[in-house]
Amino acid sequence: MALIVMKFGGTSVGNCEKIKGVAKIVANEKAKGNDVVVAVSAMSGETDKLVGFVNEISANPDWREYDQVVSTGEQVTIGLLALALQEIGVPAISFTGWQMGMVTNAAHSKARIRTISAERIKLALAESKVVVVAGFQGITEHTGDIATLGRGGSDTTAVAVAAGLKADVCDIYTDVDGVYTTDPRIVPEARRIPVISYDEMLEMASLGAKVLQTRSVEFAKKYNVPVRVRSTFKPEDEGTLVTREEDIKMEKVLVSGIAYNKNEAKITLSGVADAPGVASTIFTAISAKNVNVDMIVQNVSKDHATTDLSFTVPKNEMNMALAAVEELRKELKIADVLADNKVAKVSIIGVGMQSHAGVAAQMFSALAKEGINIMMISTSEIKVSCVISEKYTELAVRVLHECFGLEKEQVKELK
Ligand code: ADP
Ligand code: ASP
Ligand code: MG
Repeated sequence: MALIVMKFGGTSVGNCEKIKGVAKIVANEKAKGNDVVVAVSAMSGETDKLVGFVNEISANPDWREYDQVVSTGEQVTIGLLALALQEIGVPAISFTGWQMGMVTNAAHSKARIRTISAERIKLALAESKVVVVAGFQGITEHTGDIATLGRGGSDTTAVAVAAGLKADVCDIYTDVDGVYTTDPRIVPEARRIPVISYDEMLEMASLGAKVLQTRSVEFAKKYNVPVRVRSTFKPEDEGTLVTREEDIKMEKVLVSGIAYNKNEAKITLSGVADAPGVASTIFTAISAKNVNVDMIVQNVSKDHATTDLSFTVPKNEMNMALAAVEELRKELKIADVLADNKVAKVSIIGVGMQSHAGVAAQMFSALAKEGINIMMISTSEIKVSCVISEKYTELAVRVLHECFGLEKEQVKELK
């Protein structure tokens, strides 16, 4: 007998018929003699609708109240799934974030999980019930307020619960049958990756592949939780296993996947004083507004007095970052501030590139052939990212997918 955590995303629980379908998949797993905990998202489109309501009332919302509103979608689906299970004779009980003891920090709208007591989950499992838990939500450690884990956060709920309960596996059921070499909605030739390492998946997720929320992969890696990405609509398919690199027999591929992120905005400060402490002042002010800065590029100063500084932030945080810069403009004598929210980031990812020169050059020339201008570049051992104009995103992803031969079969399997 195993302990299995299953997670169903928004499309999988998009209406009552689909919820009944999910109940059958869960019942099958339970019928094998396993203990089962299920994390669910809100119905597809529901969280967007709730965010829309908040934006209609407030352009700059109090994030505590934002969480109060946007966390509600999951409360509906957990109750409905528990009912659907009971209707087919499977004892089930649902828990919200606070009922299961999912405790987070106070960073409303992007809270991080601190602890999970899971007392009630364990008690209910001992009574042989299927436990259905709300994805995406927890309660803050000191005030007991509702907090959400950032968009796509139900993945993280599932993996964190799996880690907390030392589950044997965490199955993420979604609307694609695994992790692909790139978003299969953009490149039809994209291939399913049968096995992928935590590190590669971490890069894919953080660079935009929304099939798993980045933090869910961080948790999986830290606590060594095997994660499988599988299709709700073809549950018999094996999907993708996300696991330790040591367990994977790697074929020598340079690049394993391409990711893109359209949720980027670029801010350039020109004529900034080239002196110690300036970058620190700027980025301290921005982080005080809780804005996540992604890429940073500072040019070499030509006159040894001033320089240009560019960085990217999430699109919806651009105005907050600009407000922080504006407050410093006089003090730091910033000559000009340029903001562009029509940019995107495309990235190539692969552990194979650690030992190979020329991968970045290959990427740049593939983009150049299409006349795509690169505005910013950042690299690490296992990825190269470029900021380009948003309108070229799909073209860039397709061109890079072809350039690195990802449409061809790759042999990657467990050792
Ligand atoms: P859920 O609602 O189940 O959480 P998401 O919409 O968050 O599902 O994530 C699944 C989607 O992720 C897919 O429909 C697909 O378009 C997108 N996606 C982006 N990159 C990839 C990739 N490399 N492999 C698979 N899916 C991807
Ligand atoms: N419902 C939340 C969202 O849409 C969480 C999730 O689906 O993972 O972001
Ligand atoms: Mg998701």
